[in-house]
Amino acid sequence: MVKEASDIVEIVGSYISLRPAGQMTFKGLCPFHDDHRPSFDVDPKRGRYRCWSCGKYGDVITFVQEYEKVDFAEALEILAKRAGINLEKNENLVQNRLRGSMLDSVHWASDQYHQCLQESSLAAEARSYLSSRGLEDEIIRQFGLGFAPRRGDWLLELAHNDGVDVGMLEQVGLIGQKTDKPGLYDRFRERIMFPIRNVLGNPVGFGGRILPSSSMAEKAPKYYNSSDSTLFSKSEQLYGIDLARSSIAKAGFLAVVEGYTDVMMSHQMGICNVVATMGTAINARHLRQLRRWTNKIVLVFDADTGGELGVDRALELFVTNDMELLIATLPENLDPCDLLLRDGPESFQKVLDTAVDALEFKLTRVLLEANKAGATLETKRKATDSLLSVLARIPVEASPSSQLKLELMLGRVGKKLGISVETLKARINELRPKAESRKVENNNTSTNEELRRAKPAPEEKELVEVLLANSDLVKRARLEISPDDLNHPGLKQVITVCMIYLTKTWYPTWMRYAPVWVTARLVRGWWILLTKVGEIWNL
Ligand SMILES: [Zn+2]
Repeated sequence: MVKEASDIVEIVGSYISLRPAGQMTFKGLCPFHDDHRPSFDVDPKRGRYRCWSCGKYGDVITFVQEYEKVDFAEALEILAKRAGINLEKNENLVQNRLRGSMLDSVHWASDQYHQCLQESSLAAEARSYLSSRGLEDEIIRQFGLGFAPRRGDWLLELAHNDGVDVGMLEQVGLIGQKTDKPGLYDRFRERIMFPIRNVLGNPVGFGGRILPSSSMAEKAPKYYNSSDSTLFSKSEQLYGIDLARSSIAKAGFLAVVEGYTDVMMSHQMGICNVVATMGTAINARHLRQLRRWTNKIVLVFDADTGGELGVDRALELFVTNDMELLIATLPENLDPCDLLLRDGPESFQKVLDTAVDALEFKLTRVLLEANKAGATLETKRKATDSLLSVLARIPVEASPSSQLKLELMLGRVGKKLGISVETLKARINELRPKAESRKVENNNTSTNEELRRAKPAPEEKELVEVLLANSDLVKRARLEISPDDLNHPGLKQVITVCMIYLTKTWYPTWMRYAPVWVTARLVRGWWILLTKVGEIWNL
């Protein structure tokens, strides 16, 4: 009955975008594999879906099961709720109730916090803070904002009165065990509560912002999230996605900002294709989710926080994912919320419309750095390398579409920097092992020994060779580079030793009268140098 009441096109279409294809089928990007062209068919007549690429198929219930990662009974519940059918809680049907109970607990708590913010005298300051930020009641209601009072047992007491399972509240991270003595306490205190909802609009966790007037504001973290649970994962959730997803198709892209209030203010001003990450940088998992709705993402960076790291990460995601990733920069010292309040929605829309893709963004920075007054050849090389080393992270065995993307990018880079594509490619190939050895460094299981044995990048080896052959150059090299510029640990040591022992100016005068142990170290230094050279050049 639930199945009959659920239109498969409508249900599937609420998760992924579908377009009619042929007489009686609909097509879209498959949500179950990394789909690049629409290979997912929905056939409403037979009530079934099938992916021609990964082979997933089934009916509306299996779709919800797979997509929401729930069991059969829960999928039925979701569909029943949507169809307005009251499903009897049959024990046989409802096998795995944990997830459902967790959802219920978060939902209940969300209602309590919200009601408190709306009505309680305890929330007077919270209400005036929100209105001072320019947020209207309507938008506060729409996003279900709440307030957790200071008391410390406020939620606990409500739970006891309402007969709500405290253990479940503990599981979803709202109640905690005291560390100094036995007993429980509310983990969110004197905080504005932003419910984090999943795609379907069910709250799965909270972000809590400390009330600025709170006496705890000094030492407590400004933002505090629910701990990760089976319901809630900080690195996957997107704030506002439930309200944004229906506007993505029309706008043609999704904008990602940093703050919850930035999302709310955008929606309040009618720009609804806006979400925020949960205090983490956007990652491949986010992109995988978002591809259901769009393949164009605009990252909105503050003028000051859009640092090199953020840009490089965005560029890396851009080149390794089959998506358009653009970067928009805000005017100095303004977040989207401030900008919207000061200059209205047109100003923010303009920021979004003038976004440039991650490569263009990085290129502009590189050119700025390279053409800076007084830039040496070395600074120019470093600026160019900072771009090429990101491109070098594209795996050699990348998909044809990634390869094509790289080709096109190199064409653009070459034109802008006045370097031939062949030279760029050669440099990228040189940088590749470097990027790989960096990966090894991040890997905790690798030992120093493995690193030492790793092959040095050709240009590092060449540099050391040149320096060893022309000791006169070492003095000059010392002004230009530091041993830390090298990635290979063995070569790093060689360079260090070279710099210390080959540049005579580096000897302090007292060394002429050096005691025996210093001489011993000198000898040891030369010994290290020679063995390293031997090791690396296979002598
Ligand atoms: Zn598939």
